[in-house]
Amino acid sequence: MADVAPALPLSADQYAEGVRSGDVTVLARAITLVESTAPQHGVQAAQLMKLLLPYGDHSVRIGITGIPGVGKSTFIEAFGVYLCEQGHRVAVLAVDPTSVVSGGSILGDKTRMEKMSRLPAAYIRPSPSGGALGGVTRKTRETITLCEAAGYDVILVETVGVGQSEIAVRSMTDFFLLLALTGAGDELQGIKKGIVEMADAIAVTKADGDNLVAAERLQLELAQVLHLLAPATAGWRPEVLTCSAVKGNGIPEVWVVVEKFREEMTTSGEWGARRLAQVQEGLVEFAREQVLAGMLESPAVQQDLNDLGEAVAEGRMTLREAAGKVAADFLAAKR
Ligand code: GDP
Repeated sequence: MADVAPALPLSADQYAEGVRSGDVTVLARAITLVESTAPQHGVQAAQLMKLLLPYGDHSVRIGITGIPGVGKSTFIEAFGVYLCEQGHRVAVLAVDPTSVVSGGSILGDKTRMEKMSRLPAAYIRPSPSGGALGGVTRKTRETITLCEAAGYDVILVETVGVGQSEIAVRSMTDFFLLLALTGAGDELQGIKKGIVEMADAIAVTKADGDNLVAAERLQLELAQVLHLLAPATAGWRPEVLTCSAVKGNGIPEVWVVVEKFREEMTTSGEWGARRLAQVQEGLVEFAREQVLAGMLESPAVQQDLNDLGEAVAEGRMTLREAAGKVAADFLAAKR
């Protein structure tokens, strides 16, 4: 439904109420608000997040990655629909570094998850674009909190198997699922790039028809690889499954693994430790962004950029020396 009239401005209280009552139009606007870099939006976003403080934190956050073509959209649709049928409320978010570089995105280009998007218990949000990857992940952290406040109890954070996005998504989720494809080559799938080391489970996709035997072979190979690696989460042995999103096979089994993980890791304390680490990562990201913004606006730094920039360009000073002085002058001006 397209808006006929421009939406009326909302107060932070109205945003909070709308989000809490599960109004998806208000939720979408609230997400746009926290994604905004405009200073006046920042003030309201801060108020909103404070109002919602008691309502976050009650979900299972699952990171899902895999190379383009592995079947992420199809899997998320099948998994999401299954979870909604089980009575869950599911939000799908995306962290796509290609949207940062190009403004467009791999994950957002196609019409995705049509069936799921029609379900009232599901909410699908495309990746925020623009800004640095750090900015995108920072925004996604707040979006997760907004979705939790709106009552979504399973948050799926999807990313493409390129760039640094896996590390970012791993740092904001409780469980990390890698989707793997037969015949795609280890190199390409990040089997050797450290992605496998981050996985709490691997699901070999498209295990149907002629591909079933090959999928089961890859399952065994990956299980052997994982056996040699230190587990991504202390005390948890990552599992390798096969699934077919098209046929619906193996989809409930993925959720069984997630539930088992949550139960065992809650008991061992690892779940809480991971949540704390998520918060700490978020803190560093936010603080870094604020310090950086403050630094670039500082008159002392502006002056240095002029003066020292010339000195470096003319070979009178090294870059490292000048950068040290910029940082020192910024900190001194703050005191
Ligand atoms: P993404 O790029 O990782 O999001 O992958 P898509 O979900 O768009 O899937 C890529 C292609 O694989 C599409 O043509 C899908 O129809 C196909 N595909 C996805 N899942 C399955 C599956 O379970 N079985 C089969 N046979 N094909 C699948």
